[in-house]
Amino acid sequence: MRHFPTAALAAAFFLAASPPGHAAGFPACVDGLKRAAGKAGIRKSVVRRALDIAEPDARVLRLSTVQPERRIPIWDYLAFVVDDQRFREGKAAMRRHGAALRRAEKRFGVNRHVIAAIWGVETDYGKTTGRNFLPHALATLTCRGGRREAFWRRELLAALRIVNAGDLPLAKLYGSWAGAFGQTQFMPSTYRRLAVDFDGDGRKDLVSSVPDALGSAANYLRRAGWRTGRPRIIEVRVPNGYRGPEGRKRKAALDTWAARGLRRMDRRRLKGKLRAGLLRPAGPDGPAFLTFRNFDSLYAYNHAESYALAVAHLADRLAGRGRFRAAWPTDDPGLSRIERKWLQELLIVEGYDPGAPDGKIGPKSRAAIREAEKDLGLPVTGRAARRIFQALGGK
Ligand code: CA
Repeated sequence: MRHFPTAALAAAFFLAASPPGHAAGFPACVDGLKRAAGKAGIRKSVVRRALDIAEPDARVLRLSTVQPERRIPIWDYLAFVVDDQRFREGKAAMRRHGAALRRAEKRFGVNRHVIAAIWGVETDYGKTTGRNFLPHALATLTCRGGRREAFWRRELLAALRIVNAGDLPLAKLYGSWAGAFGQTQFMPSTYRRLAVDFDGDGRKDLVSSVPDALGSAANYLRRAGWRTGRPRIIEVRVPNGYRGPEGRKRKAALDTWAARGLRRMDRRRLKGKLRAGLLRPAGPDGPAFLTFRNFDSLYAYNHAESYALAVAHLADRLAGRGRFRAAWPTDDPGLSRIERKWLQELLIVEGYDPGAPDGKIGPKSRAAIREAEKDLGLPVTGRAARRIFQALGGK
C-alpha cells in the first residue's frame, strides 16, 4: 500500500531535504520522538529498543530520494505483475488458504479472488514484505524534515502503539522504506484502524498470520465501499471513432453504454442499470473496460490506475476468466518476471552489465538494454521487452 505516488514523494524530498551528510540535528530530533512516544504511553523499553538510532537510515534516505522512473507502459507493468507465475502461485495459495479466504468473503462480503489478488500484487503472497526496520525508517523520514514530517511522525507513533498493544513484537516491524508492512502492506495507522484478528488468537498479526492479513485486507476494502456480489470490470469493444464520455468517474448505466454502441467482449448482453465508467488505459487503440464502483474501491488501497487494473485482472484470472482479449497497441510486448531475469542473463553472456540477474529492471539493466539495442541496430528503448529478448536468443 503506497499512499502517494513515488514521483510526487521524491519531488517533495528534493525540494525539502537537507544537504547530503546532514545529521547534526538528527539525535536531537530522535530524542524529541522518544519523548513524544513516552507521552503517548508507549512503554520505555519499547521506545528505547525502537529508537536507539544515532544516524539516519542510509538506505531509507537513498530509496526515498531515488529519481522516479520514466512512466513505464501499462503493458510492461501488467506483463510482469500479472504473469503466469503469479497466477499459478495464486491458485496454489488460494488452495492452501481456501478456508480463510472463504470465511473473509463471507464475513466482509469481498470476493475472495480479489483478496488473493491484492495479496499477490502487494507481496507475492507474503514472500516479499520489505526489509526496512520501520521505527528507523519512519524516524529517518520524520527527522529529515520536509512537508510530510507530521505524517511520518504519526505513522511512527502508530507503529509503536501496535507493539505496545501486544499485537506484534518489535522484531516483526519490517516493511517498505515508506512504512507499509505485513503480508498485505498496511501503513501503521491503517493497521491500527482496520486490522482484524481473523485467526482468533487474540492478536492482530498481519506479518505472520495469513488469515489475519487476508481478513484485514477484506475489511479494508469493505470500508472503502466494496459492494458484495457486484462486478469490478468488464472488457468491452468501443465503436470506431467513439468520442463520448470517458474516464472511470464519468459513470453511466450499462443500458446507456449499450445505446452508445459498446459491446461486451465475452459476447454477453450489455444491459441493466448498474453504473460504470469507460476506461481505455492505452487510448483508443488498446483494450477498453467498463469499470464499476468496486474497481474504484481498489484505489483506496493504492491510488494508481495500473495497480487497480493489475489487481482486477489477476482476480479475474484466478476466478477462471481469461486474459484481456484486445491487444495492447505495441509490436514489442513486455516480459514476465522469469523472462526479465532471463534477459539479464542473456545480456551478461553477451558481455553487457545489467547488474545481478534478479528480474528487477533498474537503471543498470536499462542502460545495458539500451547499449545492446544500439549494437544490434534496434530502436533504442531501454525496455525489458520481447524484441531485444528475442534478438539475444530468448524464446
Ligand atoms: Ca491473530
